[in-house]
Amino acid sequence: MKTGEWRETPIYRSSFPIAVSLSIDALSVRMNHRTIRLVLLSCWVMPIFFAEAAAISQTEAGSTDRTWMSLLHDAARLQLPTKFLKAFPPDFIQFEFDDLRTYAAEYHPDEHRMILNRSLSFNAAGRTLKPLGKMTHKELEVLYHELFHAYMDYLQVVEEHSAEAGHGSEELLSFAKKQQACRYGEVKIAPIVQRMDETESRYLTQAESWEALNETWAVFIGWAIWNQLEVQHKTGKSMFQDQRQSHQWVRRLKVAFEKGDLRGYYVPEDPDERRLTRKRYLAKSSQLTLKEAGVLMKHILGFQHDFIERLEASFESSWVSVC
Ligand SMILES: [Zn+2]
Repeated sequence: MKTGEWRETPIYRSSFPIAVSLSIDALSVRMNHRTIRLVLLSCWVMPIFFAEAAAISQTEAGSTDRTWMSLLHDAARLQLPTKFLKAFPPDFIQFEFDDLRTYAAEYHPDEHRMILNRSLSFNAAGRTLKPLGKMTHKELEVLYHELFHAYMDYLQVVEEHSAEAGHGSEELLSFAKKQQACRYGEVKIAPIVQRMDETESRYLTQAESWEALNETWAVFIGWAIWNQLEVQHKTGKSMFQDQRQSHQWVRRLKVAFEKGDLRGYYVPEDPDERRLTRKRYLAKSSQLTLKEAGVLMKHILGFQHDFIERLEASFESSWVSVC
């Protein structure tokens, strides 16, 4: 920790989209209310906390359950990924709405709070999530980007309990930690976002590299959802579920890699650097790798294993990551 300003857990702030991919910012947040939310989560993880669960009012719990069940139902109807969402207890994410001007959305891991623009609420009233079927493709891109942040947060919370119980890391989290060490400790950044060819090297702190990985992966999930919706709008078919649409996925993914669309970012921990910029974008050479894409396709997007293998084989060997 270099200053009192920077704290370990970032807030993931999603900016409004630049071109197709989202640009995201993140700042820090203090470790408050974590204990409260952990107690609520523990109700699901460990029966010992059932007594605390009873403290939640029936009305509030019912409303939370309904919101979550509607989200799952809508996502399935739209042929969007639901498997990773089903892992959450219904009350894990606290949805809030606000008139966000600088950012498209925020996710606060410490409190498991997702703050979405009021336009994503039912009748823009700021009370509950509007049906996914009423959202634009861009809104669904933002929502899934944030849901992915929540999922990584959830995996970390579960891991804390698992470690106490002597269990190992979940597969995706374990892969993330390996990638963080191998790929995100030293990165290339593009100091000027629009000039991708001008790059500089940076050694990232633990917090910065974890944030850079999370944002890179969330950008990819948002990108995948937006593209899926575009294809589905034209063909009525899902690229994730219908192998006849796989050529569309391969083509779009190759273009995204070539354009450097799958780049993450982080907020510099160094106060001097933060004075220069609110966030640093990774350079094209530090964007998502094919291997990371394959793992996310399996764990989050629900692609079949044999398709992922064929996809990886269709890329030239120069795309293969050393990590
Ligand atoms: Zn984000």
